[in-house]
Amino acid sequence: MSAPIAEPNRETALRQLHRFIARAGTRYAKSRNFDFGPDRRANVSMLSPYLRHRLLLEEEVLRTALQRHSLGAASKFVQEVFWRSYYKGWLEQRPAVWADYRRSLAGMLNDLESCADVRKRYERAVAGNTGLDCFDAWANELQSTGYLHNHARMWFASIWVFTLELPWQLGADFFYRHLLDGDPASNTLSWRWVSGLHTPGKTYLATAANIAKFTDNRFHPEGLATHAPAPKMPDVYPLEHLPASQSLEASERFGLFITEEDCFPESILGTDAPAAIMGAVATRMRSPLPISDFAEKFANGAVSDALERSSRIFAVNGELTDSLDWGDTLLEWAKAHDLKTIATAHAPVGPVAELLAEAADKLAQHGIRLLQLRRPYDSLVWPHARRGFFKLKDQIPALIERLGNDPVPAAITKKAG
Ligand SMILES: Cc1cc2nc3c(=O)[nH]c(=O)nc-3n(C[C@H](O)[C@H](O)[C@H](O)COP(=O)(O)OP(=O)(O)OC[C@H]3O[C@@H](n4cnc5c(N)ncnc54)[C@H](O)[C@@H]3O)c2cc1C
Repeated sequence: MSAPIAEPNRETALRQLHRFIARAGTRYAKSRNFDFGPDRRANVSMLSPYLRHRLLLEEEVLRTALQRHSLGAASKFVQEVFWRSYYKGWLEQRPAVWADYRRSLAGMLNDLESCADVRKRYERAVAGNTGLDCFDAWANELQSTGYLHNHARMWFASIWVFTLELPWQLGADFFYRHLLDGDPASNTLSWRWVSGLHTPGKTYLATAANIAKFTDNRFHPEGLATHAPAPKMPDVYPLEHLPASQSLEASERFGLFITEEDCFPESILGTDAPAAIMGAVATRMRSPLPISDFAEKFANGAVSDALERSSRIFAVNGELTDSLDWGDTLLEWAKAHDLKTIATAHAPVGPVAELLAEAADKLAQHGIRLLQLRRPYDSLVWPHARRGFFKLKDQIPALIERLGNDPVPAAITKKAG
């Protein structure tokens, strides 16, 4: 099995989008739940690694789908794209969920040292050595390709929690370390959803019949848990306000900082050209445990592609740092280029946001502003992600209307021309 995703760059992302989009209508609705195996993935888009690193934008995918299909015909595909935006917006407004996950994960990884029984079950699970053929195949597929079908992710998480009786946090970490699309919001909240923590009282139980049907009879597991008890008192997290979005002042001199959270930065800047450009990758911060080579390489490639593109468009040399001390690195870089402002795409809750927050404090002590520019799409959609997905789903026609029809953000067409 090899990685199914080709190159981590925008050109490949666009090619894949256009290759898939004819199938985003009723064909997708009928077949998307089938996991036919790693060599037969034409029923889903496989765009998630590109969307996750914003080599491709949700709004571009939605517009392209709706140029080809009616909203009725593409409704399932459109809703799936909005699930991503929903999870991003939801976590942004409940950052304590992420902080709690990170804290409890650290504790559980420590406890593995002393708790032989859990460690044994955990080691068998991640080695694909449980004796449950479907689960073992997915554990291997994840580690050798960096991708799993959505239904396989749901079955895997359900078996992890309810059959193997392992903590969801360890499973979320295993996914996050290996998925090319590994995302603090979609991953953490999906694991919480399976476990009955996102929609209180509602868990997800993987059944043998469902697995057999939707794997096209590749698997017929025996011995799966027959019930999935919901946690009695799930924690309640306060809803926080979204911070006001920041913007550059007209004709302001600034440096552009690119991270793996947004690899299409030239589309946020409009016609403003940066005086200097720097890129950085923080994939190593996904976990205290090692990150897969696939995931690191994909994020690295995505940032390098963004750096190369924006350097060309703005005719400014770009540099890539491998430092994780962004405070000192950005400070030196700002001094070298005489920058009082550094602009970066807004980083949603996760390791990049944490590194940026530390860097912003350091820079502020030296009179340098670190501006995080939020995309209008996020400002439009995230306020609808305060409760369950179905509140957001009701707003989809209105949100689509507000997005308009521009196929590509205007600034790019202007500059590239
Ligand atoms: C336990 C678990 C963990 C997950 N972890 C991640 C993760 O780390 N990163 C991630 O991007 N997705 C995650 N997902 C969601 C989903 O499985 C993937 O986005 C999807 O399988 C990607 O394949 P695709 O691009 O072919 O999807 P398609 O079916 O073609 O969907 C199109 C796009 O919609 C979005 N999308 C589709 N389904 C979902 C969903 N259920 N939730 C959120 N967005 C969705 C993705 O961006 C996807 O690229 C997880 C789901 C589960 C159950």
